[in-house]
Amino acid sequence: MSIFVIAETEKGARGLCAGARTLGNEVALVSLSEATRIAGIADAVYAITVPVDALVESAAATVSELIDTKAPEVVLVEPTRRMKVIAGKVASKQGVSVITDAKSIEGAAATSLFFGGIANRKTKSVGDIAIFTATPSIFGDVQPSGSDVVEEIAYIADDTVKLRSREALPPAGVDLTVAKNIIAAGRGFTDEADLQMAHDLAAKMDAEVGCTRPLTEAVNWMPRETYIGVSGLMLSPEVYVGIGVSGQMQHMVGVNTAKTIIAINKDNNAPIFEQADYGLVGDLKTVLPEIIAKL
Ligand SMILES: Cc1cc2nc3c(=O)[nH]c(=O)nc-3n(C[C@H](O)[C@H](O)[C@H](O)COP(=O)(O)OP(=O)(O)OC[C@H]3O[C@@H](n4cnc5c(N)ncnc54)[C@H](O)[C@@H]3O)c2cc1C
Repeated sequence: MSIFVIAETEKGARGLCAGARTLGNEVALVSLSEATRIAGIADAVYAITVPVDALVESAAATVSELIDTKAPEVVLVEPTRRMKVIAGKVASKQGVSVITDAKSIEGAAATSLFFGGIANRKTKSVGDIAIFTATPSIFGDVQPSGSDVVEEIAYIADDTVKLRSREALPPAGVDLTVAKNIIAAGRGFTDEADLQMAHDLAAKMDAEVGCTRPLTEAVNWMPRETYIGVSGLMLSPEVYVGIGVSGQMQHMVGVNTAKTIIAINKDNNAPIFEQADYGLVGDLKTVLPEIIAKL
């Protein structure tokens, strides 16, 4: 089976190329920026140079043409905002659907969450091509392999997406989709300054810090790219630590495939304890300094 990987980040490209190798024998990386011009992780790199005055999303037209030429059976897409737009546009051009947030993939079929996360659904593409968005972590600890073949693909202008202006935003500074361990801060953090404790703990555990939705949309203490859950990021880390997180379904579906779930909450009836492998009942202001000091 031949597989295309479309990724925005280096880690995403490496992880998805490694995962693609477990699904099929021919892996090609479609690179849309310098960050993903990586040799040795796929059998071929198709490099598309998007003009500086165009949006990366506009590469969808070129990618779709490339698919027509090379005819991959599966396309794996890193679930960043931009790559998801490309997945949608390519799927529309190819006359198929995107199967989003795949938790496992078998050929043209994938299992993903359904009904807001309370059920699993297996979906199979009925077209000639199956397009999935998936995080590299669903493939476990696998390594990429490949050759140094890089083929430049001419960019085809796409006037359905226009760049009107650019405005620099503060970078999120974190890519949770490729983080091995994750700490999620919840509304139990009542002072923004206390989030430093989550970052200090993360530094001790080789983890990245994410959050529940209220910490982004209600108080704007964390970047929008870092909230986890059904309307945010769907992740499969090794370890998830929810601190001051109640454990509502809309948040937990984003991490319930974590290998180990740890909860810290001052309320011993918090629903998160029913889903956790390890739980610590305590006030985060008291227990976090102690844990950080011990680690
Ligand atoms: C359609 C829809 C989609 C949604 N999508 C998402 C989503 O994608 N992601 C998401 O996160 N949410 C989502 N939500 C919101 C979700 O339902 C919950 O409201 C939210 O996840 C709760 O966040 P929380 O656990 O931080 O806050 P709360 O539910 O308020 O919980 C705070 C917890 O902190 C504990 N606590 C308080 N003080 C301390 C302390 N000092 N020390 C230790 N513990 C303490 C409390 O006991 C409590 O359990 C969605 C909601 C809807 C309706």
